[in-house]
Amino acid sequence: MKLQLDNVSKRYGTATALDSVSLSVEEGEFFTLVGPSGCGKTTTLRCIAGFESPTEGAVRFDGESMAGVPPEARGVGVVFQNYALFPHLTVGENVAYGLRFTDTPGGNSRDDRVAELLELVDLAGFEDRDPDSLSGGQQQRVALARALAPGPDLLLLDEPMSALDARLRDRLRRQVKHIQSELGVTTVYVTHDQSEALAVSDRVAVLNRGRVEQVGNPREVYHRPRTRFVAEFVGENNVFDAVVESRPETGGLRVGVGDDVFALSEGRRTFGKSAASQSESSAAPGETLTFCVRPEALRIEGGMNRIRGTIVDTEFQGATTRLRLDWDGTDVAVTVDDESGREDGRFELGSTLEVGFDPTAAHILE
Ligand code: ATP
Repeated sequence: MKLQLDNVSKRYGTATALDSVSLSVEEGEFFTLVGPSGCGKTTTLRCIAGFESPTEGAVRFDGESMAGVPPEARGVGVVFQNYALFPHLTVGENVAYGLRFTDTPGGNSRDDRVAELLELVDLAGFEDRDPDSLSGGQQQRVALARALAPGPDLLLLDEPMSALDARLRDRLRRQVKHIQSELGVTTVYVTHDQSEALAVSDRVAVLNRGRVEQVGNPREVYHRPRTRFVAEFVGENNVFDAVVESRPETGGLRVGVGDDVFALSEGRRTFGKSAASQSESSAAPGETLTFCVRPEALRIEGGMNRIRGTIVDTEFQGATTRLRLDWDGTDVAVTVDDESGREDGRFELGSTLEVGFDPTAAHILE
């Protein structure tokens, strides 16, 4: 099923939860809404499911407006953050509850369908168990089986992993992704966790204060953020305001940040077709622009644009170490391979470190 939101706004009194949100989710796509708390993710999902109606705009399933269509008639499966299983029903009865409005797909018996779904979520034989006797991750898989039982055309997942510990979350999200692609069901996933969004999605929409900041595949959004908000929300980033000094004949830009001058390339890496439509920066000397450089693009060896700062924080992360430099009052995050540090693998607080980045490693924001 293809899902479309056309200029959907939702207001509660004078508060605007969604401000003209337009999105298009393709058949079979794993599409994620990501953004900080209060940005409107859940409201968007509730408008799609039919628990809320938009103040303005339309939600369309395969081109057809869903205005006035109640949730149970939309053919949508929903999994919420809190498992919401019925404690007085067995696991099997919980899954069968998902079939209350529909015949079992394929004309199988209800019990067969329940068994089939429990097998799909890797809980074969759990029919007679009480939900209380299951772990959090298992309960969420039962909730997923219940949502999938009627064979929905659209699956909506609202922070389904957020109550689980990191290890379980990691495992469950791989299972969910696997099941989703096996079934090919169009899926909208809500999370505030940007790393989770990058890991599982075909495409993501980054929301901020009820608006869509950017839609793209994970690599596009990570490497070519359109706005400062996206640059800073998706992964860690160093964002610099600069003044254009010149446009050398040889191409690129020379920009000043404080007392330093950097060469930036305007050549952009492309990720899929939507990237081609992005405009090149046409900033002229004297104008300001904003660019970002990822912590992992700042290197101790090499990189023609050099930054010298004082180490003010170090964080050991296993394979890498995250450093913070004070560069004339500006905080700069740097990720280095741990062995590239001092002889004993440590970076000393208060010592000076020089790092560099290549012109192509900088990305100019729109
Ligand atoms: P979270 O990650 O914290 O769940 P979210 O991105 O899902 O946040 P929403 O729950 O969609 O955000 O809320 C978006 C905005 O709309 C928030 O400012 C919220 O306070 C407001 N809002 C949501 N529901 C209502 C309501 N029923 N009445 C009034 N305001 C609401």
